Amino acid sequence: MHFDLFTLGVIGAAIGIAISMSFTLLGLVLRGLPALRIWAIAFWVLTAAAFAQGLNEDGSMLSTIVGGGMIALANALMLMGIAIHLRYPLRWRWPMAVVGLFLANQISVYLSPPSQTVSALMFGAYSVVWDLWMIWVLLWRSPRDMRNTCGFTALIFAIDAVFYLLRSVVVLFPERFASTALDDLLTTWNYLFGILSSFLLSTGFTLMLAERLTLDLRRLAHTDGLTGLLNRGALIEAGLRLVDACRARGQACCVLMFDLDNFKAINDGWGHAAGDAVLNHFVEVIRDTGLAQGALFARYGGEEFVLVLPAIDPAHAGAMAERMCAAVAARPALFHGRPINITTSVGGAAAVDANFEQLVSAADVALYRAKRQGRNQVAWNPGGAVASVVP
Ligand code: GH3
Ligand code: MG
Ligand code: MG
Repeated sequence: MHFDLFTLGVIGAAIGIAISMSFTLLGLVLRGLPALRIWAIAFWVLTAAAFAQGLNEDGSMLSTIVGGGMIALANALMLMGIAIHLRYPLRWRWPMAVVGLFLANQISVYLSPPSQTVSALMFGAYSVVWDLWMIWVLLWRSPRDMRNTCGFTALIFAIDAVFYLLRSVVVLFPERFASTALDDLLTTWNYLFGILSSFLLSTGFTLMLAERLTLDLRRLAHTDGLTGLLNRGALIEAGLRLVDACRARGQACCVLMFDLDNFKAINDGWGHAAGDAVLNHFVEVIRDTGLAQGALFARYGGEEFVLVLPAIDPAHAGAMAERMCAAVAARPALFHGRPINITTSVGGAAAVDANFEQLVSAADVALYRAKRQGRNQVAWNPGGAVASVVP
């Protein structure tokens, strides 16, 4: 298979423009994704660099300084896009410093051109540095739930690095590889590979964006917008699984249901914003009492919250509920510097042989008993017995 350079240049330019256009259009549709904007610019810069290098003979100022500089800039933009996408706090100054170094190097290459071997080795080393930097951020600085798409993109950079390493070996020992299959392959693929890796990278970035959007949507669907706790739907989904798992192991599970006392009066007297602040304050107080690992804490409705404590000794759960109830009463919420006294009623149910729905409805019955008995207290279902078994 043989392509002349002009044909490869035309194919590369067409694919470069297509990728850049699609990222730009994607950015217009999916707003609020800074990484996408940066990647779109990176692909335009890369395409322009291919033009600057492809249209000019090797060693010209346009090819060496402008083209080389733009390739470096495109790499820096890609890296920054990855970092921003993964919310890894990388400062612009570091990749830009590497761009500056490369540019200074290209200027010296233009002024006193080294041998082809040296210049190929320099460009190879430089590409490998970028590849390794991207791989490091993608694999070691990515959140666990984004590892799949980051792994795919890292693989493309790894293939790029391996390509340049192989190329460097061939360049270093020309007499060993002259006219061998490897030499032929690398020469042909030098151009084709650039085109292919740009295309694969654009796929990798698109997959990363799709994964981030899916995760964000899933998180939003499971989260209460005010308190950041699990919402009711997510609680039921996770609660069913958690209690069933406990039951299968013969361990007791406890459900505590909280309802703030006279919350309507707080809203009426202090305003809705104060009510919201009280809800967030309540969540903080409960968290500060120390939630056991594996516990589920969720907003069940307006001013109602549910805490699921898996694999817990019912006596321990009873003490915990009393401690939480007392902590809420002891720590007023602050709204614009003024204290708002709050209390909560708590309904509890603990059992080894009940499912999640049974525990919740038993806790609900207990909660209403706590309200009837005067609020700011804990009640259990069946009455009085902490170590109860829900029928
Ligand atoms: P009780 O002691 O019997 O529980 O009385 P209560 O006033 O707490 O109960 P009620 O059910 O009458 O009032 C609950 C109020 O909670 C009514 C509703 O407007 C308010 N609420 C629900 N969600 C929110 C919210 O997100 N923010 C604010 N500020 N108020 C909310
Ligand atoms: Mg209520
Ligand atoms: Mg209430």
